[in-house]
Amino acid sequence: MIKLLANDGIDPVGKQLLEEAGFFVDTNHIPQDELPEKLQNYDAITVRSATKVRKALIDACPNLKLIGRGGVGVDNIDVEYALERGVAVHNTPAASSASVGELVFAHLFTGVRFLQDANRKMPVEGASKFNDLKKAYAKGIELRGKTIGILGFGRIGRETAKIAYGLGMEVLAFDVYPSVTELEITLGGGVTVTIPVKYAEKDEVIAQSDFISLHVPFSEEPVIGAREFALMKKGAGLVNCSRGGTVDEDALLEALNTGGLAFAGLDVFDNEPTPRTDLLVHPKISLTPHIGASTNEAQERIGVELATLIINHFKT
Ligand code: NAD
Repeated sequence: MIKLLANDGIDPVGKQLLEEAGFFVDTNHIPQDELPEKLQNYDAITVRSATKVRKALIDACPNLKLIGRGGVGVDNIDVEYALERGVAVHNTPAASSASVGELVFAHLFTGVRFLQDANRKMPVEGASKFNDLKKAYAKGIELRGKTIGILGFGRIGRETAKIAYGLGMEVLAFDVYPSVTELEITLGGGVTVTIPVKYAEKDEVIAQSDFISLHVPFSEEPVIGAREFALMKKGAGLVNCSRGGTVDEDALLEALNTGGLAFAGLDVFDNEPTPRTDLLVHPKISLTPHIGASTNEAQERIGVELATLIINHFKT
């Protein structure tokens, strides 16, 4: 029987598919420091972003044949080394795109109507200073008619664009390798529309957008730093649901504190899982703890996709 350790959990539907295909699926979490000894008893491991599968762990587990990543980013896995050692690596890139796109808009709506600050202050001051708070949050703005600049027009960037078009927004896209010229969007009522994609150079997208949303992979150098903040429209908003490291956090705080940037929505941070406190307490930052893919629908899609990939791998 093939033994699989789902160390960061797996959706019940995916687990059931694997068990029906004859796999033993262990969903108990083994701490990182115990994995070199305990993973030796398994043929495969699935992880999300928490468990790291580095060279030393791969070396310690000669029986390991497959590493599955539920989600997109494989920066927690030494992929090249695994492949060199004959260990297959699979991820589920498309399963969570729609959920991440929706989280972008949760942050955008939050930022333009001050929800992040209102939700912190109302429990404390809501009864005694209701009218002061009402005044403080009076100058909200609508998303409709505004321009969203999307940096990184891959799977999630495109899902974000589709929602933006649905809200009556304009979309400006930048990608180092632009791959699509139009987007097909299915609206409610089964109506499908096709909209041409408007691309521009990175600086132009940054300078012309009311909101900027980042959907690039992890990079050593930030994609948004002091230079880019200086290019933005006064009163712009920034959302980062991609990866920590893509935005220079010092420059972000500077832009918020000097008033150039109206708000930021952050799902990802440089120092996960312990982001810096000055970001966490900032009244202009809407926060989520890396939950872009954490919806029931995305997790089920991830579980089913991963299970199917694993079953097919061991069948052939
Ligand atoms: P993707 O590979 O489909 O798209 C990424 C796009 O970015 C590609 O088209 C690529 O050409 C482009 N790109 C790369 N470097 C660029 C740069 N410097 N400037 C502009 N474009 C650049 O990936 P995806 O599935 O859309 O994922 C995007 C990001 O979202 C990844 O970092 C991924 O790890 C992250 N993600 C976050 C969550 C979450 O929970 N917040 C969940 C899933 C994925």
